[in-house]
Amino acid sequence: MASVTFDKATRRFTGMDRPAVGELDLRIADGEFMVLVGPSGCGKSTSLRMLAGLEEVDSGAIRIGDRDVTHLPPKDRDIAMVFQNYALYPHMTTADNMGFALKIAGMPKPRVRQRVEEAAAILDLADYLDRKPKSLSGGQRQRVAMGRAIVREPRVFLMDEPLSNLDAKLRVQTRTQIAVLQRRLGTTTVYVTHDQVEAMTMGDRLAVLKDGVLQQVGTPKDVFERPANTFVGGFIGSPAMNLFRLPLTADGALLGALLVPLPRDTLRAAGAEGATEITLGIRPERFDVLAPEDLETPGLELVVDAVEDTGAVAYLHTSGKVGQEITPVVVRLPGRPTQGKGAHLRVAVRPEAVHCFSAVTGERFDEVRETTSVRVRLPQDTTR
Ligand code: ATP
Repeated sequence: MASVTFDKATRRFTGMDRPAVGELDLRIADGEFMVLVGPSGCGKSTSLRMLAGLEEVDSGAIRIGDRDVTHLPPKDRDIAMVFQNYALYPHMTTADNMGFALKIAGMPKPRVRQRVEEAAAILDLADYLDRKPKSLSGGQRQRVAMGRAIVREPRVFLMDEPLSNLDAKLRVQTRTQIAVLQRRLGTTTVYVTHDQVEAMTMGDRLAVLKDGVLQQVGTPKDVFERPANTFVGGFIGSPAMNLFRLPLTADGALLGALLVPLPRDTLRAAGAEGATEITLGIRPERFDVLAPEDLETPGLELVVDAVEDTGAVAYLHTSGKVGQEITPVVVRLPGRPTQGKGAHLRVAVRPEAVHCFSAVTGERFDEVRETTSVRVRLPQDTTR
């Protein structure tokens, strides 16, 4: 068993008014690929370094399997770490870099060679074993760093932004390779990144951190579809979820001239907080752009400020009047855009596309969606 458990693990640095990592409770299953993700300074590297034994744990505990490793030195934890800068020895060949840790641990040379060759075959490095790092490409160096971790056959891999030195195309290739390799080896892996696309595509689950505090743990699908709060909603997903703080009515929330109907439970929960507002989250791909000739369906009026055309999809950066404010709204369109800068459009929102958060705490209201159909309507619509 090589599960990993953070049990209220806390790290405080002098001079900081809050812990760098505060009471982190996280259990990573045997063989699982867990991604720690969050913006710069959220405490993800510190969490990984605590697990590695490179950072002290001020309170709480860390376990690998059933073993309490909280105060063990790194070499006794049976882990292998892949760093951002690879930390390869420049004067050593690929084979020597990969086998170095085994050699100093006293493993016989033929055994070391065998393990290195096996790892090189997996990593497509067999033809590069005699080269030194300076004559390898960035991607090959990254694979040597991975190989050095693999040959040790550790109980846990720890990876700290291992792709950040690669160019965009290689990052995409390599992230798939790492994910495939991890599943093939079945080694428990903790992977740190600030890149939410890596987090969404690589891990079995992700743990989102902010200011040293765990915000949510779940599968990529869970976290994307049911973000626990406005921070997670805004952080996971690209471009970010549109977040609107809107006045509540008896039936829903007012998004400009649109009344977005909300489930009774959500309205009750918001009311119980004494709130007069609610925060709605709408992802850019969840708006329905209304046909120009459709003047019947109520819609939010927007003006296009800029168009980002990626070829496959387009992002319209727009603004619209929401309450008294002119608010930026990002709308994703499938295919090529027909609208240019300055164009006017109207969008509708389906109720099931809306995420509801407390305007007081930012926490998600856990919706029990009503089964009766609801539709977008204008406030003066009295047909319901
Ligand atoms: P990044 O993506 O920028 O590396 P991170 O999420 O990995 O960020 P950490 O490096 O874990 O964040 O840092 C968390 C907080 O702890 C930050 O506010 C950082 O400034 C602080 N910190 C980290 N190491 C130390 C240290 N040795 N001494 C003092 N403060 C530190």
